[in-house]
Amino acid sequence: MIGEDLPGQASVVVIGGGIMGCSTLYHLARAGISDAILLERNKLTSGTTWHSAAQVRALRSSRNLTNLIKYSIDLYSALEAETGQATGWINKGSLSIATSQDRLTHTLRQKALADAFGVEATAVSSGEAKERWPLMNADDVLGAVWSPDDGRVNPSDLCAALTKGARARGARIYEETAVTAIKTKDGRVVGLETTRGKVGCDAVALCTGLWSRRMADLAGVSLPVWPCEHFFMLTKPVPGAEHHLPTLSDHDGHLYIRDEVGGLLVGCFEPFGKPIDPGRLGEDFAFQLLPEDWDHFEPMMMNALHRLPVLETAEVRMLLNGPESFTPDGSFLLGESAETRGFFLGCGMNSVGVATGGGAGMALAHCIQHGHPPFDLQEADPKRFPDHFSSVEALAQRVPEVLGKHYEIAYPGRQFGTARDLRLMPLHREWRKAGAQFGQFYGWERPLYLDAKNEPGPTFGRSPWFEQVGREVEQAHRSAALFDLSTFGKILVEGPDAEAFLDRVCANDMKRSPGAVIYTAMLNPRGGFESDLTVQRLSDERYRLYVGTGAVKKDLAWLRGQLDPRHRVSLTDETESYSVLGLMGPKAAAIARPLGGGALEDLKFFRQGEAELAGLPVRAARLSYVGEAGWEITVKSADAPRVCEALLDAGAAPAGLYAQTAMRIEKRFLAMGHELDSDMTPLDAGLDFSVAWDSDFIGRDALRRITETGPLHRVVTILFDDEAAVPLGNEPVYLDGEIGGQTTSASFGYRVRRPLALAVMRAESTDAIENAKVSVDIGGTFASGRVVLGAAYDPDGHRLKAAT
Ligand SMILES: Cc1cc2nc3c(=O)[nH]c(=O)nc-3n(C[C@H](O)[C@H](O)[C@H](O)COP(=O)(O)OP(=O)(O)OC[C@H]3O[C@@H](n4cnc5c(N)ncnc54)[C@H](O)[C@@H]3O)c2cc1C
Repeated sequence: MIGEDLPGQASVVVIGGGIMGCSTLYHLARAGISDAILLERNKLTSGTTWHSAAQVRALRSSRNLTNLIKYSIDLYSALEAETGQATGWINKGSLSIATSQDRLTHTLRQKALADAFGVEATAVSSGEAKERWPLMNADDVLGAVWSPDDGRVNPSDLCAALTKGARARGARIYEETAVTAIKTKDGRVVGLETTRGKVGCDAVALCTGLWSRRMADLAGVSLPVWPCEHFFMLTKPVPGAEHHLPTLSDHDGHLYIRDEVGGLLVGCFEPFGKPIDPGRLGEDFAFQLLPEDWDHFEPMMMNALHRLPVLETAEVRMLLNGPESFTPDGSFLLGESAETRGFFLGCGMNSVGVATGGGAGMALAHCIQHGHPPFDLQEADPKRFPDHFSSVEALAQRVPEVLGKHYEIAYPGRQFGTARDLRLMPLHREWRKAGAQFGQFYGWERPLYLDAKNEPGPTFGRSPWFEQVGREVEQAHRSAALFDLSTFGKILVEGPDAEAFLDRVCANDMKRSPGAVIYTAMLNPRGGFESDLTVQRLSDERYRLYVGTGAVKKDLAWLRGQLDPRHRVSLTDETESYSVLGLMGPKAAAIARPLGGGALEDLKFFRQGEAELAGLPVRAARLSYVGEAGWEITVKSADAPRVCEALLDAGAAPAGLYAQTAMRIEKRFLAMGHELDSDMTPLDAGLDFSVAWDSDFIGRDALRRITETGPLHRVVTILFDDEAAVPLGNEPVYLDGEIGGQTTSASFGYRVRRPLALAVMRAESTDAIENAKVSVDIGGTFASGRVVLGAAYDPDGHRLKAAT
């Protein structure tokens, strides 16, 4: 609609006419939002979408990301029948080969995940792989996984089909219409300015690919998206590629390969990509490519020549170089922004935009219409990044590594090496002195374990830090350890209506007296976890919320979303102002006493109070995330080094995150992002003790309904029989020969001397599950174990005084 005037008002405006914009518009229209419009500054697909290799491989690292692509596959194969426009869907499957033992383990772990997620996948021998891909040199191939449902599509035809389907339902598309400004009022988006006039709207879907960071800036939203150059080589026809072939993934060689009009398409995710400043790609960058760079591609070319001897004589047609956007963790952004209501993001597709686009557009449309995705998509929640990652410097450092990691073996505990030291904890110097190995979480550098001699090599076997973590657990168990919990998000909720507000937002009873510590959840109206947290009531009108490290932006946005103008409540992010030290272990009291902490010994479990430690004011709470007696001590960040030093001098031993995690799993303390998510309810999780049924909290009606029908899940502990088993989490659990659930967290349990996992099981498979025998597929090896419904380790750790 080039000549037609824009409407003055539309309920939703989609910006960007690539796969994400077209799919979102289609799904909005399909959901009945027929006045939605799409604005594209050039022509549809003219950004990254037109030159995509457009492979569609279903399996992702999580069930729900995989579900999005499964949805795409169904949609892409069905759209032609619906719209009359072909999508170019070719279902030839995909083959992932392994040429090293660790890659084989990784590939078999992927296969096990596929089984758990309902994606068809078969482990095949090197010989069978060669039969499926005769042009490949399979001399060094140890094995492969065959996925028959995968395929590819023609991205331009796909977008044509989606927009045809959208138009048929009333949606309108305006090409050559660039958005130049985004209008907000009281923190909400209200309209746009474009090169063809203004449009008022209730919601915006930002689908502008690599231009999204600058566009989000127009709405006051900080966005961590930055492009890299992305390459594939095309050859002229070669013998053996006359017919369609499966997609061949040679991840050790950083390559993906398929046929293309009788020749070969050889693409790469090289170990370190080339970032590009999007400012270099002007407003008129449409249907354009970047210059070939054979020097950069050469190592990949060598790998390709090894894998495909036919390339020795093949004629090269071109080295295609197109820009594609990446985010700091390799997953895309989908959902409402933290900063501006009604401003929804569907961008940063990390080179899987065409595969994911069908499902992601559906999910984004669902978010816009219902305020939440159709199922938990925390891996894509834009609020998972602190603003520190949105700087050009951090992004330009990080995204080339993200591109490279796309094909890297997913070893447990792997970390990014770039864009580090963005956020240092107040005790960073102390932990460095103690020899900490750091890991990055929400930008923070957290000590994983202490006394690290050198950078450990990656392994799927027993980790190099196994003994050290065991020593830290031993300290907490037999003496006292000091854990740094300072990365907790801390939110002060203050005002005359603080109690009433929190009583509505939190599922537990928040009407306790000042001094109370309350474990609770913020639930959505479906009864699922938006956050699990502890709350300290500081006074009648002040509560401090302690939320997960990566949850503070999301939780603040959630809380703001529940506030109504009549509430006399203010919210303050105090995360950086305070540190939290976990002093845990039977000698905690003996250590704190001479420093002035004697009064804390009278605190009952789940109570908190003020004291002085080493002459500095602290607030200590009697609770424990590790199953040993102790306090979580909140102290001003500026005072933390002195309190820490005094506690260490008095005999506490520093301990890191891995020890804490091992202990939490033994104690069956559940964690967001592992066992808990927005689809899990306290009833599924067995946390109904934290539900105050008499309070009128958000989610209560849904929970009441579930009490009648029964929960869908059950969280259990698995104790492995073989002490040498190394479960990592995310493995299928077989019960009576069928997959009954999946591990969510795993570790060695040092206090019970056994490998352990927490697992979410389907409720129908869990009748009489206590003590049931299960088998867990750990990378193709089945490890047997026994189920317990409670904690693997349940000490009587609450009796602080008796233990000292
Ligand atoms: C070489 C290469 C190979 C790839 N291979 C695959 C693959 O095999 N499988 C796969 O799934 N993915 C692949 N990808 C990635 C995939 O192509 C992208 O993830 C996807 O196309 C991104 O789509 P998008 O809609 O987010 O962005 P885009 O397609 O870039 O669309 C964004 C649109 O926004 C428009 N726009 C920008 N600013 C404005 C404004 N101010 N006003 C209005 N409109 C605006 C642009 O003009 C553009 O059309 C590949 C990418 C490359 C580069």
